[in-house]
Amino acid sequence: MKLQLLPSTFGENGQASARQHLSCFVVDDLVAVDAGSLAMATSFEQKKQIRDVILTHAHLDHIAGLPLYIDDLFSTLRRPVCVYATREVIEVLERDIFNWSVYPRFSELENDNGKVMHYSPFEIGKEFTVKHLRVKAVEVNHKVPCVGFVISDGKATFALTSDTAEAGGFWETLNAEQDLSAVLVECAFPNELEELAHISYHLTPKNLRLELEKVARRDFPVYVVNIKPMYRDEIVAQIAELEIENLHILEVGKVYEW
Ligand SMILES: [Zn+2]
Repeated sequence: MKLQLLPSTFGENGQASARQHLSCFVVDDLVAVDAGSLAMATSFEQKKQIRDVILTHAHLDHIAGLPLYIDDLFSTLRRPVCVYATREVIEVLERDIFNWSVYPRFSELENDNGKVMHYSPFEIGKEFTVKHLRVKAVEVNHKVPCVGFVISDGKATFALTSDTAEAGGFWETLNAEQDLSAVLVECAFPNELEELAHISYHLTPKNLRLELEKVARRDFPVYVVNIKPMYRDEIVAQIAELEIENLHILEVGKVYEW
């Protein structure tokens, strides 16, 4: 299984920046998990192939690229872009994004080949299939309804917290998994901004350490994602100070294979 966190901004030299403003993970160049930079950073090959998008929640940094992606591909789509999300998230998308005022309601539009957008609601805790992947949504603890995922292709399995504060249930689910290849966990704010992390339901390095103590087995790498770009240097330093074995920062743009 291949996994890539797409870049979302450019540095001063015009190269993709290591800073993560948006969230969009691509699995096997075929399925997107969140759509932050889906329109902006996908390769030509990925644009040709990705027609399935699984969403964790409706915050802008996780969906910003979705309306633009469907717009870009509108006339060329031979099958609709399928958006997998909880019913609550679908409601928010229809009410606040695809509402004709912010952007067209693509779920009601067709091109010469038929529909261009389709919703596939999923339920928390129930496995569903997306292309060759088995996906399970696990409730996490964020300011708005949000899920993490456990995703498997039958050979490798990875888990992703998405945006969350302390999330006991997520780790319980992971502890029941037999064979994990990797876990991606968020850490948005540095320790000094504990109060902000608390009210916005995110983790700091200090809280990340407490979360990782809930993991029964640690024979897999843990990668930190969703580091707020403004505080990246502090957060990376504070994570290094934790001196936790197998804890890494996920590199933006790099293709990981398990
Ligand atoms: Zn969020």
